[in-house]
Amino acid sequence: MSHAKFSPSAAHRWIACPGSMVMEKGIPNTSSAHADEGTAAHFLASECLEQGRNATDFLNCFIVIKKGNALWSTSDEDKLSSGFNVDLEMAEYVQKYIDAVRSQADGNELMVEQRVEFSEFIGSENAFGTADAIIICQSEIQVHDLKYGRTKVDAQGNEQLRLYALGALSQFGLFGDFTQARLVIHQPRIGHVSEEVVSVEDLYEFAHRAKNTVQMIKAVDEGKALFNEQDLLNPGEKQCHWCKAKATCPALTKAVMTTIAGEFDDLSTCDLEVELKQAVESVPNHENQLLGKLYAVLPLIESWSKAVAVAVTEKLHNGEKVLGFKLVQGRAGNRSWSSAEEAEQVLKSMRLKVEDMYDLKLISPTNAEKLQKAGTIGPRQWSKVESLIARPEGKPTVAPESDKRPALEVNPLNDFENC
Ligand code: SF4
Repeated sequence: MSHAKFSPSAAHRWIACPGSMVMEKGIPNTSSAHADEGTAAHFLASECLEQGRNATDFLNCFIVIKKGNALWSTSDEDKLSSGFNVDLEMAEYVQKYIDAVRSQADGNELMVEQRVEFSEFIGSENAFGTADAIIICQSEIQVHDLKYGRTKVDAQGNEQLRLYALGALSQFGLFGDFTQARLVIHQPRIGHVSEEVVSVEDLYEFAHRAKNTVQMIKAVDEGKALFNEQDLLNPGEKQCHWCKAKATCPALTKAVMTTIAGEFDDLSTCDLEVELKQAVESVPNHENQLLGKLYAVLPLIESWSKAVAVAVTEKLHNGEKVLGFKLVQGRAGNRSWSSAEEAEQVLKSMRLKVEDMYDLKLISPTNAEKLQKAGTIGPRQWSKVESLIARPEGKPTVAPESDKRPALEVNPLNDFENC
């Protein structure tokens, strides 16, 4: 059995749900276009910080992704492989992160893409990660993390950044009298920056908890303890969201089903369809308190449903049997020209009017803004264009109590009259 690898980016999972390390074994990693885009953005950011350049200096350069690593394209052939062009949008987002890091690094020591090892803190050999940026200040160590995704991540209690901070303390602790670590997550695409200042004592306390979890996982991994579902599996939105085992995890399935439709003795013997139908019908009659609890776990239920759908599809594609389901031919796709050039020639030869032949559509305000940024629309022209941009107010939307936006004042009587 290969030994468990305690990766910082999965620490939110293995610390909250130690059993996930066992459950995920043997399930291959899957790369996604989103992950590759994040790799490209990180590469651009590190190149800028290391070379003292700005992101727009690399406009229209092509970043190739090979086996999860990013590098600049050196030939036209590269452009046929998977990769990303540095466009204005990527350059602007990455520049926001670069500016923030540079402003903190001014007068301090900056390390980019710094490998940090935290093995001694968690009691496992070869435990390391690569922090996007580490800044050594007089009394604090800063860890900056660029996240290019759109799912909001908070720095408060963030296990990944805490492990990086421990690694940085282990490596650079001798160079200063550090009392705290500043952990910063930058999410320029959603305009989100989250920061936590954590004392060195609290970091050590976190390390102690992480070490206990590691010992528990290692005992199972090395066959010194039995895998006990109840002690080791702990479903929750944060840890389950990206867990590779979520489609097959018995604890998650049970948690979802119990939340939706109450306690079950044995999921395999109850009639899930009937139970779920009844559960759906009873939703409007629930107390508000229970509705709130259910609403909070909807993301977890949705992500579990998606995982089940993906697993069933994959198994059927692999030729496996799944009770009650089979693969069939789907609906035919949308019609398209087999050769757009030929179709254009044929239609032209029929002397059709331009407006009959082409779908002309006005560009969107977003694309007009891109033209302004590229200098195609001048500043004076832009003020005219900008005055024509309208944006409807956002519709009332449900948010958690912790959301920074103030709660809307709702007047049910007026709302009713307006209907
Ligand atoms: S799906 Fe959730 S509960 Fe199951 S192993 Fe993964 S993280 Fe743990």
